[in-house]
Amino acid sequence: MTATPEHLRGKTDRRRRGERRDREWVGVGDLLVAQVASGAPLGLVLRRLGLTAAAVTARRRRDPGFAQRLDDALMASRDPDLAHGTHGGWRAGCRCPECREHHAAHRD
Ligand SMILES: [Zn+2]
Repeated sequence: MTATPEHLRGKTDRRRRGERRDREWVGVGDLLVAQVASGAPLGLVLRRLGLTAAAVTARRRRDPGFAQRLDDALMASRDPDLAHGTHGGWRAGCRCPECREHHAAHRD
């Protein structure tokens, strides 16, 4: 068996881990989108699936298609009685694109 130089092996392991994460995410991402679309609050869905908000944010950057599906689900299932794009919407737990945008623009 041929020994792989250390610096190359590290690179391969990182890529393999990334590919494994991609495969694992396929089912989880679909579940996440489906549960949000059914009206469950995002925070509750994350707890159910054992995900962190940071993992979802990282996934959004990595996978624009997932980001779009999740945003569509958030928009479709958001509470029509909330004032979206305001502090109140965010405080009420809404993570629709408008509430996220407001929160991102006003946190410091
Ligand atoms: Zn909202």
